Amino acid sequence: MNFELNSDQKMIREMVRDFAETKIRPGVMKRDHEGRFIDELIPGLAELGLLGMLVPDAYGGSGLDNVSYALAIEELARVCPSTAVTVSVTNSVCQDPILMFGSEEQKRKYLPPLAKGEWIGGFCLTEPGSGSDAGSLKTRAEKRGGKYILNGSKAWITNTHYGKVFVVIASTDPSKGAKGVSAFIVESSSPGFEFLPLEHKMGLKASVTSGISFDNCEIPAENILGTEGMGMRVALTTLDGSRIGIAAQSVGIAQGAFEEAVKYAGQRETFGKPIKDHQAIGFMIAEMGTEIEAARLMTMKAAALRDAKGPGLSRASSMAKLFASETAKKVCDAAVQIHGAYGYSNEYAVERFYRDARVTTIYEGTSEVQRMVIARSLLGR
Ligand SMILES: Cc1cc2nc3c(=O)[nH]c(=O)nc-3n(C[C@H](O)[C@H](O)[C@H](O)COP(=O)(O)OP(=O)(O)OC[C@H]3O[C@@H](n4cnc5c(N)ncnc54)[C@H](O)[C@@H]3O)c2cc1C
Repeated sequence: MNFELNSDQKMIREMVRDFAETKIRPGVMKRDHEGRFIDELIPGLAELGLLGMLVPDAYGGSGLDNVSYALAIEELARVCPSTAVTVSVTNSVCQDPILMFGSEEQKRKYLPPLAKGEWIGGFCLTEPGSGSDAGSLKTRAEKRGGKYILNGSKAWITNTHYGKVFVVIASTDPSKGAKGVSAFIVESSSPGFEFLPLEHKMGLKASVTSGISFDNCEIPAENILGTEGMGMRVALTTLDGSRIGIAAQSVGIAQGAFEEAVKYAGQRETFGKPIKDHQAIGFMIAEMGTEIEAARLMTMKAAALRDAKGPGLSRASSMAKLFASETAKKVCDAAVQIHGAYGYSNEYAVERFYRDARVTTIYEGTSEVQRMVIARSLLGR
């Protein structure tokens, strides 16, 4: 067993860390306070190849492995979780399903502009009435001649107002329930496609999230991903991979908050010494560091397993996502505690990390859903 990164992976980590420190960190607090999307960072992210990391060179991507991808997402989240989620979504839930399930024609048409960052992508599974119970979705896709007509709405979709291409899961045969669901590539310029107003979120304020309405939205029949009835397989296979990205985002958030806490604990004095010299604070730091290390190892194991195309990816990525997201929540809470009143102020980064961490146990499958996936796998059901 080898825990060493290879030289390419180390280089990616250093490159992204440098970009995050020099280009992202300077505006991170302002963008959060103003709730302003990270559009000014998109050209730089594209130039580094971070908007098409998993796509092979032949389709205009960087052709990185999943370990490098996880390292990059962690480094972005360590400074700005909003940037990390924007990057993770276009890579792993938009480009990845096109790569895994798309025809050669679809790959040639959609992957190069997405991978080069000319277009941003998203993924539409959740609806106002269905999240965890995704199979009960109501958005309908009916085939009429050479087109599918979409009707319905999606909720809580990341990368909307700036997005151009969305992988949309809709029902082509409601009588078959989850087995009658299909996946489509949908362009936001399609007739009948409308972005709904942005959500006012607790955190991730520099990322965009909104609903989408489909009102007789017309898409070419050839934009189906795979065949009719394959939609749930497309969605679940996609999420098995993308949860590694959310686990990595969670590790990055925890690491960012941890570093702030260590710094503050060395500066703040009470009872005549820095608070880091009080054993209670030292033990909190020890616990935080240990849990981050465990979360990172689980995330890297899942990423390496995906690279090796090994068995048990679904369980490994669910375990990593569950543990890392719960760790992010705990570590950020402790980081706020270590800051005392200052941790409750939006002048301090830990307040932002605390808000940003909260969603990681909710999106791309809640912690309860991860436990269901893991239990099913462990119990052989
Ligand atoms: C900022 C943000 C960005 C998002 N981006 C996207 C996106 O890009 N694309 C997309 O499709 N979706 C996106 N989502 C939606 C997200 O994936 C869903 O919110 C999530 O899957 C949970 O669904 P829900 O909110 O409907 O909760 P529900 O499914 O209604 O669950 C409510 C509660 O009940 C629990 N629960 C549900 N069923 C069970 C059960 N059987 N046993 C035990 N507990 C259960 C849940 O764990 C949760 O605690 C995003 C959400 C947020 C907040």
